[in-house]
Amino acid sequence: MKKTTRDEWRVMVTLKVRRPADLGLTGIDDLAEFIAPPGPLTIAVLPRSLGNFGFVSMSDGLVSRDIEGDYRRRCEDIADELRNRPQVEDVSVCCTETHTCSHCNSGWEELTAEEAADYSTSFDEHSVEGEPACCEAAINEFRSGRDVPALQGGGTP
Ligand SMILES: [Zn+2]
Repeated sequence: MKKTTRDEWRVMVTLKVRRPADLGLTGIDDLAEFIAPPGPLTIAVLPRSLGNFGFVSMSDGLVSRDIEGDYRRRCEDIADELRNRPQVEDVSVCCTETHTCSHCNSGWEELTAEEAADYSTSFDEHSVEGEPACCEAAINEFRSGRDVPALQGGGTP
């Protein structure tokens, strides 16, 4: 089964900076007026680790039963906090999705239509587009839901 994990949670913040003070460059208002960013200025704001309490730090797993959800909520809180600031143009919460196989833990890959049709890359004549490509357990799980004969002959393809 395809397992999806989400990590590297972050809040992407696009700033509309017009004056040096918008960047925290204060104290030069008498001399300077505007700044000229080369384009949209987008930064990533990373959430504080769930287990980081400042005075003590521990692993995320010790403090959370839903690490993914807690990071997402923490990022949404950051986004809500930043959304209405004058120098903020846009905020969005992002993460990196990783797909792995629940049987073999390899990265999840599926046959393309061409690979399924090509005898050198398909597993047998029953291979179809979208069939997992990592291990026999995943292939047979995929096939059992589709009334297709299981892969013959043991071992990994
Ligand atoms: Zn697998």
